[in-house]
This record gives sequence, C-alpha cells and structure tokens, in this order.
Amino acid sequence: MLSEFDLISRYFTRPARSYIAQIALGVGDDCALLTPAAGTQIAISTDMLVEGRHFFPDAEPFTLGHKCLAVNLSDLAAMGARPLAFTLALALPAAREEWLGPFSAGLLALADSHHCELIGGDTTKGPLNICITVFGETLPGQALRRDAAQAGDDIWVSGTLGDARLALAGYRNELTDQLVMDAEQHALAATRMHQPTPRVALGIALRGIARAAIDISDGLIGDLGHILARSGVGATLAVDSLPAGPVLTQQTQAIRRHFTLAGGDDYELCFTAPADRRDAVFAAGQAAATAVTRIGSIDAASGLRLHDADGAVLNLQLTSFDHFRST
Ligand code: ADP
Ligand code: MG
Repeated sequence: MLSEFDLISRYFTRPARSYIAQIALGVGDDCALLTPAAGTQIAISTDMLVEGRHFFPDAEPFTLGHKCLAVNLSDLAAMGARPLAFTLALALPAAREEWLGPFSAGLLALADSHHCELIGGDTTKGPLNICITVFGETLPGQALRRDAAQAGDDIWVSGTLGDARLALAGYRNELTDQLVMDAEQHALAATRMHQPTPRVALGIALRGIARAAIDISDGLIGDLGHILARSGVGATLAVDSLPAGPVLTQQTQAIRRHFTLAGGDDYELCFTAPADRRDAVFAAGQAAATAVTRIGSIDAASGLRLHDADGAVLNLQLTSFDHFRST
C-alpha cells in the first residue's frame, strides 16, 4: 500500500522545470514560492470537482485529470491571464495506482501543454473530491473583467456550444424520441463533455481588444447574465447565429436553441468588444487558431432579448445550471 508521501512523490512531484522563471519553489516544503515578474499581477482561481455531482462515479481517470485542470485554466483564459502554476487538493477513497497513474498522466499532460506547473497541494483520504487552484499572470488594467461591458459592444463567443449538454442528454436518455444521434456521434459529443479545451491562447490574444469576458460553464444565458449584471447593461442575442457543435447542428431547431443558449459545460469564452474592433477580434481568433462568432450586442437597457434569424422576438423559457436549485 502506498503511503501518502510515496503517492505525492510518485504521481504529483516532478523535477523542477526552469522554463517558468516565476516559480522559486515547488512541491516539498510547507509553501510553494512564486516571484511575480516586475509590473505583473497574479490572477488566482479555484474550482472543485465532486464525484456524483460534476462527474460520474466511474469516470475515466485520464480524462478526469484533464477536465479538472481544464476548467481551472478556462477561468484564467476568461481573464486573459497566462497560466503559471497550480495546486491540487485531493481527497481519495484509496491509494489505487491504477487510478492514480492515468489521473496524474491526464492532468500533467494538459499542464505541460500550457506550461503550467504543479507546485503543491494536499492529499487526504475521503470521498473523491478534486480541488485545483490556478495561478496566472496578467498585466494591470488588462484583465478581461465581467464588469467592463459597454452599451454598443458586440458580443462574441469562441468555438461551438451545446455538444457537451447533448452528450449528457444521451447518457441520461433524455429526448430519445427527438435526438438524431448514433453511438459514434454521441462519442464525439462526449469528448466535449469529458475533455474541454480551455481557450487560453484566445484569452491572451484578446487583451487590449475585448472589454468583458467570462467562460461558459453553466450555459451561455446564465454566464452572459453575470456580465450584464456586473456591467449594469442588457443585451440582444441573435439566437440562430449561435455556433452549435457538430453533433448539435444535426438536431431540431428547438433543441439547438435550447442547448446553445443554456447547455453548460462548454468552456468557451463569451466576450464583448467595441464594434469598431471586429477586425482585431477576428485577427485574435486567427492568432489563437480558435473560431470566433459575433452573436449579438450589448444594450444600455437592462434585460436579455432573444431574436430569431428574422429579428423577431423569441420567448424561450430557459434557465442555466444552479447547484442549489437543480437536482
Ligand atoms: P503539510 O503537512 O505542510 O500540509 P503535506 O505533508 O500535506 O504538507 O504535503 C507535503 C508537500 O507535498 C507539500 O509541499 C505539499 O504542497 C505537497 N503536496 C501534497 N499533496 C499534493 C498533491 N496532491 N499534489 C501536489 N503536491 C502535493
Ligand atoms: Mg497538508
């Protein structure tokens, strides 16, 4: 049986890498030490994933490792921050190497691809619970905050929406009489649910171009709603211009509208930018190799208005995910 310390050194400690100059001390002491580069700010965010709530009890450990870090990197992306390091607090029912090996491999592969170093954490026995805190770097005045949208801004979204929610519908056997989805298409949609791509390069490329940004974890309407509330503005969305994922594109218009507007688990960026910066937004998307789609505009009048392709008002009753109201 692995001891706590063997476990940490085998799966969560690696030789120090010199390419991140800001990390003065990593795993092994009472604290890690970060030295911010002169004139920079540190962006910090925490996300916890709980078995049975955020992932299925039999979740595949490699993709789970990926997802736990991905959702945290997505928060850095939404601020336009560059990842530096993260900590991992882990409660585990047992030290099972056949779980720890792939979990650590999935986690550290994504960490490496973003040059984001695991610098510490905590390990304890208990129901499976994975809590990550990420540290990123940004420049004063350049973070993409939720409170910075202005009337007249365009609203944009990265990538595509809704395939993660569609995969969940497949697992739950929802809407079986309406969905057009075979096993192969479900597997494709499920990749979006299990292995989201944090839009880190896009967030950084949008510095100085976008005004407000948020990552879409609970559904576009709810998450855009946070920007509207914090910025004291409203918005109009062109619902049928929302970019649906490849599997969602093949579904009925009603399901497409529902899952693009209120799907959840997408981890795309929703951001606003002045209407005279459209070319710059497209250039940022190109530089980050990430599609960007203009989906509406910010209004001075509060509230969210949904329009169809002809500009007619749509009355859709949709809510986004809330842990204490949903089951
Ligand atoms: P302390 O007793 O001071 O809390 P620990 O014994 O919990 O320290 O941890 C020893 C070292 O291992 C610390 O540097 C801590 O940050 C690191 N550590 C513990 N758990 C993890 C983990 N899951 N991933 C990475 N580092 C970890
Ligand atoms: Mg400890």
